[in-house]
Amino acid sequence: MARTLLITGASRGIGAATAVQAAAAGWQVALNYRQDEAGARQVVARIRAAGGVAQAFQADVAEEAHIMRLFADVTAQFGPLYGLVNNAGSTAPMGRLQDFSAARIQHMLQLNVAGPMLCCREAVRRMSTVTGGQGGVIVNVSSAASRLGSAGEYVDYAACKGAIDTLTLGLAREVATAGIRVNAVRPGLIATGIHAISGEPGRVARLAPGVPMQRGGLPEEVAAAIVWLLSDAASFCTGSILDVSGGR
Ligand code: NAP
Repeated sequence: MARTLLITGASRGIGAATAVQAAAAGWQVALNYRQDEAGARQVVARIRAAGGVAQAFQADVAEEAHIMRLFADVTAQFGPLYGLVNNAGSTAPMGRLQDFSAARIQHMLQLNVAGPMLCCREAVRRMSTVTGGQGGVIVNVSSAASRLGSAGEYVDYAACKGAIDTLTLGLAREVATAGIRVNAVRPGLIATGIHAISGEPGRVARLAPGVPMQRGGLPEEVAAAIVWLLSDAASFCTGSILDVSGGR
């Protein structure tokens, strides 16, 4: 029977590419989105047209109540959860910390740290072999920003991704004997809509010459790393943080 995978923020970008590749690899995929229902439906249709199993689930993963509903809905629809990709996340308009409002910083932390942490909690509660679950695998989507700091752009976002790296290391060790692997990918400059959110749609092209491989990456290139970490081929990987950044 196909294993169930929940991917947060899968209506476009890295999450959507991961959904398509994971479905092709045999997962039944629960795609979460916040507002882009049309985008999520398109991804579902693409997967189904290729013979895969997928369904879209609306939830704002910056809200605990939405997360609780999301996990309940996915389990009710697809049965026990075996995989989670904590992909939903966002930057905010570029600037300097001295100008950031408390509300902005709170939202960054809520969406990029508390949300993934609560999703990990709900996944572990369901997956842990210690409490009767079947085990499972979690992949967190961090960012090269956690290593670089994003000075003058969004140090709040970068700090959130630093928290994701640490969460990945700690949780991996905490649940290593509970049948659960926890890993992360750290994408570099990837061509998605996230750069328009931070106010510079052409950011990847501007910064590509500084990447050792001299180019930005594609969402599909990050998805391939995520799907590998989800797979049994990565059975001895936990607490690993895989850079997918062209050397950046
Ligand atoms: P994207 O194209 O902007 O897509 C973001 C996805 O997250 C969308 O599906 C969006 O859905 C969803 N989302 C946003 N807020 C949400 C919320 N509160 N609840 C549920 N879903 C939400 O971004 P992306 O580039 O693919 O980014 C995916 C992940 O990769 C993020 O964690 C990001 O930090 C990380 N990353 C990206 C890059 C890059 O260069 N692109 C580099 C490093 C790391 P809705 O439109 O429906 O809200």
